[in-house]
Amino acid sequence: DDDILSEVIDEHDVLSILPLRPSDAHKGSFGKVMVVAGSTEFIGAASLVCQSAARAGAGLVTLAARQSLHPVFAAKLVETTHLPLPETAHGEFASEAAEVALARLVKYDAAAIGPGLGQSPDTVEFVHQLLSGISENTGLVLDADALNALSLTPDWWDIFNHPAVLTPHTGEFARLSGLSIGEILANRMEICRKNAALWGKVVILKGAHTVVASPDGRIAVSPSANPGLASGGTGDVLTGIITGLLAQGLDEFDAARAGVYIHAMAGESVRNNIGDTGMIASDLLIQIPRAVKSIK
Ligand code: AMP
Ligand code: MG
Repeated sequence: DDDILSEVIDEHDVLSILPLRPSDAHKGSFGKVMVVAGSTEFIGAASLVCQSAARAGAGLVTLAARQSLHPVFAAKLVETTHLPLPETAHGEFASEAAEVALARLVKYDAAAIGPGLGQSPDTVEFVHQLLSGISENTGLVLDADALNALSLTPDWWDIFNHPAVLTPHTGEFARLSGLSIGEILANRMEICRKNAALWGKVVILKGAHTVVASPDGRIAVSPSANPGLASGGTGDVLTGIITGLLAQGLDEFDAARAGVYIHAMAGESVRNNIGDTGMIASDLLIQIPRAVKSIK
C-alpha cells in the first residue's frame, strides 16, 4: 500500500548515511567490533557475524566465546582476534565470564551479542550480567539468544534501558512482545513501530520486506522479498553488517536501515548469479563490499 511505498529504503538514503573512508585511514578509524556469539552447537553463527562485520568495513573484529571453542574458531577466522572466556569444568560459562568480556569491551565501539549462544541457564545468566554492565558508549546489536534471554524477564525494557538495535525474526519478536505470530504478521509495520517506542530501541522485524522502526516513530522498509534468504545463517550476516556500521560511527537507526538495505542487495546479487535455490549465508559475505561499492 501507499504507506509501505513511502517508507521503502532506497540507494539515495543509504548513500547519504554511509561513512566516509579517508585515504589516510588506519584500522582504528573504522571502529572495533566485539562479537559475543557461538556455542558448541552453533559454531557457524559466530563465524558469519565476525566475517560480515569485517565485510561491512569495521577496522577490527574480536570474537568473545567460551575458551574450549577457541581452537576451532581460531582455525576458521583468520582476520578475527579472540577473547577466550572462562568456563567451568562442565563447559558452562564461568561466573566471571561476563566480567572478563566487559573489561575488554570498554575498548570497543560496538558489540553484537546473541547469535548461536544457546539458551542454557549459565548462558542466560551470562547474557543478563553482560547487558547490565555494558556502557552507554558501546553501540549494541542484540540478536537471537540475547533476545531469548531478555524475553525471560517480564518488562525487560524497564530494566535494560541501554540504546540498542534489536533484530528479531517473527518468532523472536513474539517472545519479546508476548504477541502471537499471527498478530504480528497481520500488522508488521504498526506493531514494529509501537514496540520500538515502548521498548526504547531500534527494532528490526525481519522477513520478506523487513521493517525497521525507531523509538521516535521513524520507520523504514526493505525493498526486498527474496526466498533465497530463507535459510540458516542469513540473519547472522545481517547482525554483523549492522554492528560493523555502528562501529564506524553510524547511529542505531541509520546503521539498521543501511544494514538492512546492504544485506538485501547482497542477497539480490547472489540471486542474480545462482538463483534463489541453494543460496547459502556464506555466499552473501563477498557481496557485502560489492553492494556498498555499487551504492557509492
Ligand atoms: P534469521 O531468521 O535470523 O536467520 O534471519 C533471516 C534473514 O533473512 C533476515 O535478515 C530476514 O529478513 C531475511 N529473510 C528471510 N526470509 C526472507 C524473504 N522471504 N525475503 C527477504 N528476506 C528474507
Ligand atoms: Mg537468527
